[in-house]
Amino acid sequence: MEKILEVEDLQVSFSTHGGTVQAVRGVSFQLNKGETLAIVGESGCGKSVTSQSIMQLLPASNVKRLSGSVRFKGTDILKYSEKQMRKIRGSEISMISQDPMTGLNPTLTIGNQLLEVVKEHQKLFHEEAVQMVVDILHTVGIPSPHERMKQYPHQFSGGMRQRIMIAMALICNPEIIIADEPTTALDVTIQAQIFELFKKIQRETGVSIILITHDLGVVAQVADRIAVMYAGKIVETGTREEIFYNAEHPYTRGLLNSVPRLDMEEGELIPIPGTPPDLFAPPPGCPFTARCPMAMEVCSRVEPFHSKKSASHSVYCWLQDERAKYAFLTMGGRL
Ligand code: SF4
Ligand code: MG
Repeated sequence: MEKILEVEDLQVSFSTHGGTVQAVRGVSFQLNKGETLAIVGESGCGKSVTSQSIMQLLPASNVKRLSGSVRFKGTDILKYSEKQMRKIRGSEISMISQDPMTGLNPTLTIGNQLLEVVKEHQKLFHEEAVQMVVDILHTVGIPSPHERMKQYPHQFSGGMRQRIMIAMALICNPEIIIADEPTTALDVTIQAQIFELFKKIQRETGVSIILITHDLGVVAQVADRIAVMYAGKIVETGTREEIFYNAEHPYTRGLLNSVPRLDMEEGELIPIPGTPPDLFAPPPGCPFTARCPMAMEVCSRVEPFHSKKSASHSVYCWLQDERAKYAFLTMGGRL
């Protein structure tokens, strides 16, 4: 499969009044052409920071450390200047955020906002640009695009506004769309329609999608592959089937047991006890140790290595690793 984006050993920390927060701690993953990769985890696990790093949209004044690499079609764009990034954002990689109201300008008609995006990236006659806007609004399912172009964001429903955001993200024909909790503010029916739209667009354009979400229901609907994040790290990656039917990491299993699924009886939900570790002072070893029902002595002291369950399925957990015993013994432990 052709890789379009490769993130390697991404580390991000922020300076705050309370000290340094290590938000992303050595994240690596790849995105293949035409697929949807879901990055899943609880809030504060570093998934949004990961996506903002790819786009270089982190609040610059607070960033203490940003290292690793983000190779887009082979070139490390983490080293790009703001000027170089501006050419990439929107036209090659675009982002859809949670709240369309913050992404849309309330004082401009949606037609003008879309025209602005088109004209920033492409040299076109006005009539051509207008035609592009009409076409894209049609693609995302806005009825009567000619008339609705003249309206302002507040004249649209939440679901329609999110469609307009998708139109904005798509209009310059990007190769990657990063969607950060794109339907969190919408009701379930509208959510389903929006994800149908994503799938349709993907079929038609071959765009690759990174979907950031805490919602496993959404993931089950749309993801080809899944990366599970916990406390600034990826703890397991696999295809949708591998994660939903064959999860190996205790955190992934906990996550799957803590959300309602169609095949569950009532009362079967088991929340994961405890809270994620403090990222001001992350503990050594496996970040899940304090909450893990399977934790062993070695877990709190040495970080688990990468274990490969299949070509597509990777886990970071000592339970999967023969070397746990030796890591423990070389630390001076007794079995
Ligand atoms: Fe649990 Fe240890 Fe595996 Fe971490 S490494 S998930 S603490 S068993
Ligand atoms: Mg977030």
